[in-house]
Amino acid sequence: MTEPKIWEIPLPDVSVEDLFQAEGAAYNKRPPRPRTLELHRRTLAEASSLVRPVMTWREVKILGAGERELLLEEGQKLTGRLLARVAGTAEKLIFFAMTIGNALDDREEYYIKSGKTLEAFALDAAGTAYIVKSSMTAVDKIEEHCRKAALQTTFPMGPGHSYWRSLEDLQTVFYFLQPGQIGLRLTDSNLMMPRKSIAMVMGVGRDLPDFKGKTHCDFCSLQKKCQLNHFGEKC
Ligand code: SF4
Repeated sequence: MTEPKIWEIPLPDVSVEDLFQAEGAAYNKRPPRPRTLELHRRTLAEASSLVRPVMTWREVKILGAGERELLLEEGQKLTGRLLARVAGTAEKLIFFAMTIGNALDDREEYYIKSGKTLEAFALDAAGTAYIVKSSMTAVDKIEEHCRKAALQTTFPMGPGHSYWRSLEDLQTVFYFLQPGQIGLRLTDSNLMMPRKSIAMVMGVGRDLPDFKGKTHCDFCSLQKKCQLNHFGEKC
């Protein structure tokens, strides 16, 4: 098994419109008020100085597959019907986790304690936009890495989504990645800290099922309500 690698991810381009998108604000019919726009411009500038996207990833061999589980090296396994269906014929999984760091969480908490709820809300949306866009860059880099080795990849899937309810599987992700090295930790209730972080897996192989451009959003019960899938469906 390879050691986890760490990649710094360049700060993605995030716009004020992305913040509105992450908030679920509908400004396509009526533009935001100047004060609202100004607040979001300020927030975006502040967020860009606080976030530092970094990821860790590694490959893990798949030793067997059932209808609802994948058996992995070192006696580990992951559960889930969708995972088994999408990556059951893969040779290995790429595990990856990324975060934008805890400085944005700290500033948001400061705003909440100071009663600046609008600032806190906008900063939270900025954090969402940065982690989603950073994860899109991360997935592109992994796909490119695999393409160079003439390997196919599945779309990424992550524990904790509606199609993969077992949050305990995050412990398996943390077992393989040891992402404390990029500042990520798991709480007793299997929540990732810093809050703006993601952990996912992708199947890798030569004979993968063709899901015809689908992503994990196509299997998510939140799809109709979710603002994030407009970012590129890689939350
Ligand atoms: S619909 Fe939203 S919550 Fe569901 S997988 Fe897609 S981006 Fe994530």
